[in-house]
Amino acid sequence: MIVIIGGGLAGLTVARELALAGQAVTVLEERTNLGGLIPRGELAGVPIDLGADAFTTQPEQVADYIRGLGLETMGPTGRSWIWNGEAFPMPARAKLGIPADPHSDEITGLLADPARVAADLDMPAHVGKDAATLGQLVRARMGDEIVERLVSPIVSAIYSTHPDNLALDPLLKARFAEHGTLAGAVEAGLTGPAIATVRGGMFRLPERLAEQAAEASAQIITGAKAKEMTARSVTYERGGTTHTLAADHVVVATGVARAQQLLPGAMVLEPFELPKGRLTTHVSLAVRSEELDAAPRGSGMLCVAGTARTKAISHMSHKWAWLGEATDLHVLRVSYPVNDNVPVSHAIEDVNALFGTAITANDVADSYVLRWGGALTPATAGLRAWARRIETPPTVWITGVWKAGSGISAVIPHARATASAILERG
Ligand SMILES: Cc1cc2nc3c(=O)[nH]c(=O)nc-3n(C[C@H](O)[C@H](O)[C@H](O)COP(=O)(O)OP(=O)(O)OC[C@H]3O[C@@H](n4cnc5c(N)ncnc54)[C@H](O)[C@@H]3O)c2cc1C
Repeated sequence: MIVIIGGGLAGLTVARELALAGQAVTVLEERTNLGGLIPRGELAGVPIDLGADAFTTQPEQVADYIRGLGLETMGPTGRSWIWNGEAFPMPARAKLGIPADPHSDEITGLLADPARVAADLDMPAHVGKDAATLGQLVRARMGDEIVERLVSPIVSAIYSTHPDNLALDPLLKARFAEHGTLAGAVEAGLTGPAIATVRGGMFRLPERLAEQAAEASAQIITGAKAKEMTARSVTYERGGTTHTLAADHVVVATGVARAQQLLPGAMVLEPFELPKGRLTTHVSLAVRSEELDAAPRGSGMLCVAGTARTKAISHMSHKWAWLGEATDLHVLRVSYPVNDNVPVSHAIEDVNALFGTAITANDVADSYVLRWGGALTPATAGLRAWARRIETPPTVWITGVWKAGSGISAVIPHARATASAILERG
């Protein structure tokens, strides 16, 4: 029997793979709903994503895997905009705000010192080669201004951390080593939309994994909180009763803070002070508005810290065609860097200020406020290095975003590799 603690994307991926391979699997999920940070919500009767709504399309195997589950993937519509006191569209040929063409008008018109960005093209290839974070690499190659003006708002909106704290993506690092310039590395990666979603909602991914795992006889127990573990057992609480499961393997697929509590039951764990999770509250709105029909800010707006109360405003029903087709209303998600019951009136004010609209409370058909607290632990280089140093006993496995890297496209391959390694070990 293999016991998996955590019914988020990582735990459910491992569960599906192992169950399909004929293993006896039990998933323990503390909450009453599965999916972890990719939960299903509903607004004005329409299912929506409340958490992650996209995955990065690199590596390509992730989209293939998702499609292999019988789900349809689709790219976004419209460009992102940036707010730094005024609104401007994000450069088209760029990754995380790093331009493939430093000479494009979109870049030169935006920065006080565009020549510093273009210096990347003439610099020796060794400059930046030892960078450990995205910020270090971009600063070395293209200077500080582009980090603060473009890269930082985009990275903080997507990864909830500053580029100086974001471990360098190994794929970007490899492309930089191959091409010798950062612009060249970005260019090499621009093969289509950088992100995609699942038609019908990203939340359908964990739901589908759970369905297929259950069809293959995995037992999935919700409302079951793992309290303790050893290398061969897990003790959990459900409905006030405590149960202990014997296990041939235990997979820890919780967030990092929980893993820090559980793992010492099975091994000696090096102490590590976790970086503070970035505070986030989302206000989702379903709005009647003709002004929004024209999508005045494309797929949405990312804000430079300190220039607005909001962190980002996504025009979800424009960004994702499936959602636009599912409702006549406009669905917006307004993100705040706080853990607070943000009033809906603030969200309306902020949309109007940043989108140039005149929406009133009467136009709002439905709303939902979700406080994430500090749920998003930033994937700092320190956290990654600590996670890499952890050596588990042969029957204990760790998977999940803090071990895998950043986001869905790192979680899935890591979880699949974990399942394969368990099968190999037997
Ligand atoms: C608001 C938001 C937006 C995001 N947007 C994106 C995005 O657009 N693209 C992207 O790639 N990524 C995004 N992410 C990140 C992405 O959602 C996560 O990387 C991914 O879902 C993590 O999956 P996981 O299985 O590692 O962890 P989790 O989803 O955290 O799953 C862990 C599970 O373990 C359960 N658990 C914890 N402790 C116990 C216990 N003791 N016993 C039993 N169960 C337990 C939890 O309840 C949870 O269900 C976003 C995250 C958030 C919060």
